[in-house]
Amino acid sequence: MSVVVETVRYTYRLRPGATATSALNAEWNRCRYLWNEAVHQQKAGNKPTLCTLSKMLTDLRARNTWMREGSQVAQQQMLRTYTQALQHSFTVKGRGRPVFKRRKTTLPSLEYTTRGFSIKNGRLRLPGGVSIPVVWSRDLPSAPTSVRVTRDSLGHWYASFVVRREVEPSPEADGRIGIDWGVTTTATTTNPAFDLPYTGHRRRCAAELARAQRKMARRCRPRGHAQTNGYQRARRQAAKLHKKMARQNAHTAHAWTKTVVDHHQLIAVEDFKPKFLARSTMARKAADAAIGALKRTLIERGTRAGRRVVLVPPAYTTMTCSHCDSRAKTRLGLGERTFRCDECGFTAGRDLNAARVILATAERGRAGADDISHQVTSPRGRRSGAVRARNPLPSGTGKR
Ligand SMILES: [Zn+2]
Repeated sequence: MSVVVETVRYTYRLRPGATATSALNAEWNRCRYLWNEAVHQQKAGNKPTLCTLSKMLTDLRARNTWMREGSQVAQQQMLRTYTQALQHSFTVKGRGRPVFKRRKTTLPSLEYTTRGFSIKNGRLRLPGGVSIPVVWSRDLPSAPTSVRVTRDSLGHWYASFVVRREVEPSPEADGRIGIDWGVTTTATTTNPAFDLPYTGHRRRCAAELARAQRKMARRCRPRGHAQTNGYQRARRQAAKLHKKMARQNAHTAHAWTKTVVDHHQLIAVEDFKPKFLARSTMARKAADAAIGALKRTLIERGTRAGRRVVLVPPAYTTMTCSHCDSRAKTRLGLGERTFRCDECGFTAGRDLNAARVILATAERGRAGADDISHQVTSPRGRRSGAVRARNPLPSGTGKR
């Protein structure tokens, strides 16, 4: 079997000292200024392009010392990111125009191409004599072509390198599976062996998070007053729990999707829209976020392995009989856990029936606009793999 080369990101924790931290923050502030300038131009109706923005940057650097102090690579990359975001706001459905990046609410993110960074003696070297120790949790598979330096809500810094690595193509599989998302059972599938039960740790995290947020609300001082140390502590606690929850979700998602993708060629997924359930409690919201993470991971892994991943809109899936294909007149109440067909008398678990309907819809491959959505857009805005109702999937291996 031939080896496939894929482009991926490898992320490592950074441990910058006080000097490096302030240098990174200063760099971020300069880049943020550029971004906001570009947003301003767009709002003023100037239709900024990468070309005009680059000219603006050259001009700014010629006139201002504080701008010249920063890295040109990082600044240029910021403008590039902006123009890409602007482009996506026109072409990707549901994506809004780029907005101002505020000092207090946005987290730093700096991008450097090979011209702007190097790795020496295990440290990441950035322009302006900045040298940061990296926690090498695993080896880089190849020399990186670019790096993104980010800070998260806890104040931890990370470097994410773009590298190429060789992987064995995933083994052939010929199974078919339909997947329905839910709150009581996170994923109900047509093959019960692959069902993903609800894992309690998310609810536990959600309860703790709610407690931290109540503490924040209690300690919050009115606008214009500096927040107390107690408030800052509570905020940090909440951010920590958020992170923990996200990591647990990511772990479950990776473990479960691997088994599903390894065993199935056709994967029919309910096209779950998080807003659908996100009204009520924190636990519900947590479950929603978990499903969103699962769906994303499944699509990504599936397309990468060259599987046929089909997104089926959830409309009518709970009302249709998976045995005789007739559609009930009335919607099944949320409390009703069993589906009973009026036409043929077929009974099955509500979610199991829905999963079968989802699989059947995908197998039939009806290309009707309201039956199957045709493509998936990954959260980064890149079109992943392509999901087709009618055509066989062009192999997505190694394209990303
Ligand atoms: Zn029936």
